[in-house]
Amino acid sequence: MDLQTPHVLIFPLPAQGHVNAMLKLTELLLPAGLNITFLISSKDHRSLCGYATVHLRLNSHPGFRFHVIEGLYEGPMDTGEKLSLMFDSLTEVATPLLRKLILDFPVRCVIADGINGFSLDAAEGTGVPVIFFRTISACAFWAYFSIPDLISSGELPLTGTNMDELIMNVKGMEGFLRRRDLPSFCRSEIKNYTLHQVSNITRRSTAAHALILNTFDDLEGPILSQIRKHCPNIYTIGPLHAHLKSRSLSTLESSNSFYKEDKTCLHWLDQQSPKSVLYASFGSLATLERDQLLEFWHGLVNSKKPFLWVIRKDLVLGENDEDKVHIDLEKGTKERGYLVGWAPQEEVLAHPAVGAFLTHNGWNSTLESVVAGVPMVSWAFFADQQVNSRFVDVVWKLGIDMKDTCDRTKVERIVNEVMVVRKEEFIDSANHMAELAMKSVCEGGSSYNNLDRLVEDIKAMGVLNKEKQVAFGK
Ligand code: UDP
Repeated sequence: MDLQTPHVLIFPLPAQGHVNAMLKLTELLLPAGLNITFLISSKDHRSLCGYATVHLRLNSHPGFRFHVIEGLYEGPMDTGEKLSLMFDSLTEVATPLLRKLILDFPVRCVIADGINGFSLDAAEGTGVPVIFFRTISACAFWAYFSIPDLISSGELPLTGTNMDELIMNVKGMEGFLRRRDLPSFCRSEIKNYTLHQVSNITRRSTAAHALILNTFDDLEGPILSQIRKHCPNIYTIGPLHAHLKSRSLSTLESSNSFYKEDKTCLHWLDQQSPKSVLYASFGSLATLERDQLLEFWHGLVNSKKPFLWVIRKDLVLGENDEDKVHIDLEKGTKERGYLVGWAPQEEVLAHPAVGAFLTHNGWNSTLESVVAGVPMVSWAFFADQQVNSRFVDVVWKLGIDMKDTCDRTKVERIVNEVMVVRKEEFIDSANHMAELAMKSVCEGGSSYNNLDRLVEDIKAMGVLNKEKQVAFGK
């Protein structure tokens, strides 16, 4: 690495959505004249080496290197409890490692996933600034941030059974945020470890040097104003994937996938009529009970719309009873469906045949849908997704939130509502938001300017110890 170039450590939570977003940030920062060491778990590194093209592109960049971390938790993270196992292993394994890297190398700053609070501990006393990058939406961040207010006002723990009651203590969301729209961890016991972990670490963002968010001002302006009262220095630089394209740093084929993409679905899409296909995917972490899978499946078949569905190999919990599924639903699926294990999602959403997206509203998926101008049918699984899906429906008017239920009649009805009955209305608002998204990442746009400001601010940060540059170069 060239020693005169400012050097940044980037460390995401080891999970597909987080790594994806932070690799995109890396690809934006490298050409701006920064060197980057990207910390990655050995499991994620293996996955990237197996399937993703970004790995090949980055490795050829002289200012880039992966630093692979052994010994991190490698199990599933589809519940708060399992997520906590990852947090624990990060604290134990990654804190000393990160501190060593900060002390040994001439680092200008650390850009750490804001969900990894340990990075602040690792940098404590070193003088190296830690910038938090939260890969969730501003609205979900703000809901997490407000959890202590919900507890002190008595709105948490949730009591009684009325999940439609409005929440009054997430400022800026008073008129529309219901109990069922709070982050999923709020449904648990008040003593729940994950709830407190997520809330505490979000509050610790105020101690970070700055906050990067993968969003844009036209999408989340009012909520960003709330956050700025506590974290004044925010860089909104998203949607990152669109930002890469606007700076000619990416093509649709560049992939950060941990799974093998099945591109045959693109040929199948080529044979479908414009805006006729429902694309269904629940991201990389969500799981379905077998009966939920069947309800979705019946609903999709009964909707009579062509559908492309991502059924990840670990999507469905419990016993595998595939024969039964296929006998029940074979005909409708053969006529109109196409199933894949993992799709090239950005390419799929950009395809003219896609008319709507049945999504869990993970933040990457939500932004990808926004940029592609594709209306959504929302079925949140956990964490931030409950908040995102409410915003998709009542704030941004980009789709319908079918939260908490997925019975077949409801799936069929809502798919038709979005793709037939209110089709024009949703397409208009989706197109409008897509235009605003593109405007934000083009020259002169808010995200474009904020990225330039971020780069300048990092370059202006002092090198902690110039002597280390010599050691680093050896
Ligand atoms: N994704 C993909 N192919 C698929 C499903 C998902 O490439 O078949 C990508 C998707 O484009 C997104 C990421 O995986 O960038 C999922 O991130 P998100 O934040 O939406 O959800 P998570 O997986 O974190 O729940």
